[in-house]
Amino acid sequence: MEKIIGFLTPALVYAFIFVLNATLPGRWVTGYVNRKDTGEKLRYRLNGLPVLFTVVLTWVLLCATGILPWDWFYRYRWYGLSGAAVLGLIFSFAIVLPYPPVKKSFLADFFLGRLDNPQRWGGRIDGKMWLYLVGAVMLELNVLSFTSHHIILYGDQASPGIYLVAALLSFFVIDYLFFEEVHLYTYDFLAEKVGFKLGWGCIAFYPYFYSIPLWWAVDLPDPHTPGYLLVICGAIFLAGWSLSRGANLQKYYFKKDPKRDFLGIVPETITDGNRTLLVNGFWKWSRHINYLGEILMAAGIVMSAGHPLIPWPWLYPIYYIALLTTRQLDDDKRCAVKYGTLWEQYVKKVPYRIVPFVY
Ligand code: NDP
Repeated sequence: MEKIIGFLTPALVYAFIFVLNATLPGRWVTGYVNRKDTGEKLRYRLNGLPVLFTVVLTWVLLCATGILPWDWFYRYRWYGLSGAAVLGLIFSFAIVLPYPPVKKSFLADFFLGRLDNPQRWGGRIDGKMWLYLVGAVMLELNVLSFTSHHIILYGDQASPGIYLVAALLSFFVIDYLFFEEVHLYTYDFLAEKVGFKLGWGCIAFYPYFYSIPLWWAVDLPDPHTPGYLLVICGAIFLAGWSLSRGANLQKYYFKKDPKRDFLGIVPETITDGNRTLLVNGFWKWSRHINYLGEILMAAGIVMSAGHPLIPWPWLYPIYYIALLTTRQLDDDKRCAVKYGTLWEQYVKKVPYRIVPFVY
């Protein structure tokens, strides 16, 4: 019976998130992407943080009252992962099959999707924002429950590195939800459709794969990583976060108001008269310094766990490198088409793709 509930847990959590997302008070914002039919900007109703806190509070109440073991999500992680994988598949078919083909091959349509920005009730529920929300909240539940398992197992002897990983992953989730609106200005909203890649990616892959640094480490005893090394790991994470969040916010403020400064950096641009690109601040070092930031954050998290010789957790930063290098190539192609000769000028001015002076 418990295994069946473990399998169904992601479905129950995601349904709860759906209800909270639709009913808790939210902030209406105008996004960056245009509606295909009217050309107007899409509207969104954002309430990611209240949803996260309500779900976590509910989890704490269920555990504190003895209804749910604190380490439930860890104990039944393989069942939860299987349930999420099946749910992701069902979602992918449901979001692709009923809609007209976009590409010649069904497989390409299934993987990449047919709908650009599905919304219900005038934006009260947005398909992409809901997907990122379920991924983020489920990841946080995994982080809390996996860490609880470590504490139950080791008590006073629990590893400070595990606490650090839990804190950094929680910071990652809260930061994303705090800056939810900035996310509306990213590649996912501009260039991606909703299919298996995004749907299965957020429902199954994101919450379970991103918890991999804890998945393998919480059963192990404290590796006694020296305190100064933990400080270095935390500093690598924070350096990465500064690059990523800094670049994303600078671009976000620039798109909203091209004259507005960010952290005292007044936008410097190149233009062809119609379109404009930022070329200073974070955006002068490489065309995707934010991707470097994301990779550093992942490396800081994995190293904090303190088991560098176990290969599995390293899949986390390696995945980021694979995802973001290919994404940079795709984005470069998209921007070359959108900006034409202005992009060529930009590439000459900012020649590095991700890592300044290296790549
Ligand atoms: P960007 O935020 O860099 O967005 C790229 C878009 O920004 C381009 O398509 C272009 O769109 C615009 N742009 C590019 N260069 C300039 C410039 N110089 N001046 C003005 N506009 C410019 O990339 P992503 O959307 O891919 O990533 C957003 C964030 O999400 C990053 O921090 C990334 O690391 C993170 N991310 C995190 C993942 C995770 O799993 N944790 C996964 C993927 C991404 P346009 O001109 O049309 O506006």
